Amino acid sequence: MKKLFSILMVIATVFVYVASPMQVKAASDPQTLGDLKNELAALKKKKQENDANQKYTQDQIKAKENAITAAEAEITQAQSDIETAEQNIEDSNKKLDSLTEETKTLLEFIQQMKSKNAYLEYISGAADMTELVMRMAAVEQITDQSQKTLDNLENLIQENEQLKVDLEQKQKDLSAKITTYQEKIKDLHGDLESYDKFALDIDTQIKTMQSQVDSYVKLCANSSKSYLGDNELLTDCTNVPYNAGWLKPLNKGKITSTIGTRWGSYHNALDIGGNPEGTPVYAAAAGTVSGFVSHYRCGGNMLYVNVTVGGVKYTTYYYHLLKVNVKVGDIVTQGTVLGLVGGYSTSTEHGGYDTCTTGAHLHFGVAKGYYTGSINKANVITPPGFPNQKGYSFSSRTAYYG
Ligand SMILES: [Zn+2]
Repeated sequence: MKKLFSILMVIATVFVYVASPMQVKAASDPQTLGDLKNELAALKKKKQENDANQKYTQDQIKAKENAITAAEAEITQAQSDIETAEQNIEDSNKKLDSLTEETKTLLEFIQQMKSKNAYLEYISGAADMTELVMRMAAVEQITDQSQKTLDNLENLIQENEQLKVDLEQKQKDLSAKITTYQEKIKDLHGDLESYDKFALDIDTQIKTMQSQVDSYVKLCANSSKSYLGDNELLTDCTNVPYNAGWLKPLNKGKITSTIGTRWGSYHNALDIGGNPEGTPVYAAAAGTVSGFVSHYRCGGNMLYVNVTVGGVKYTTYYYHLLKVNVKVGDIVTQGTVLGLVGGYSTSTEHGGYDTCTTGAHLHFGVAKGYYTGSINKANVITPPGFPNQKGYSFSSRTAYYG
């Protein structure tokens, strides 16, 4: 069981990949403080644009939600209009029925009068005759009036039925409109999510870039130069101690992942496992702390130290640190504990924030040249004293002079 667990841990750390840190897309590495400031300004502009997009999308969602509320009110109104129309139809039908009955009675009466041949029967009695004609005329007039009322009622029913059809169509159209709005809102929420995600990224990038600017200002204040203008070289400000050779950054460990491109992303360092969280991480070479990125979403606490070994300038970097003991501008020796191994509790799998680790390990890398805000893939080398080989293990800090 224990063995299975350790095999799983090794597999887990193999899958840990950190893309080249700080995805600040510069055309070339920044050379001057001015370059860094320009990049910072560009990032801030991007953030503003993103904020504006977020705001615009939120407004659009609000507008669509209002349109839905209005359409729903219209549907409710149409429903009440339909009910009124139905009531009108019912009333008209009732009137129609009773009037039809009345008219039928009258028509039957006229028919009876005609069939009795009343004209002939009462031809001799003028008074009776007149009375009869008047009576018949009156009856006919009433019948005529009834017919007109019947026609009117039938028209009214037809109108109300048409109204009902129209209102039902209107309801259908409004429902379709609401569906369209709801789909649009769903899309907009999707947009909003990506803006939110971008905002997180850009905030980290701004924070990092700002810390680079601050680091160099600090580095220069501590250097013999004491001040760095926007147009002068960043490298003028780094005073780094002398190293005869390299030491391993840990007392023991085993390489669980090597340098190279895998599954589309570039892993710019060695992953060294075999140590629990909290194990001290030492400086592989003495130098000046030149960069620190805290709580990066892929890499966690990332520390950069400028070193010179055998007269050659390098950047050394240490990621996923649980704790960091030094700050930018500090001079460190090979005995300095830079921080502690992390990568287990800091991983998202175990409730942390770092998406690029699953188990305790140190991501240790070396690149040619001093740190300028990002690690250029072309400058990455296999850390001296190590083979770029998975499974390689060591049990002391063994010095390496190369
Ligand atoms: Zn790594």
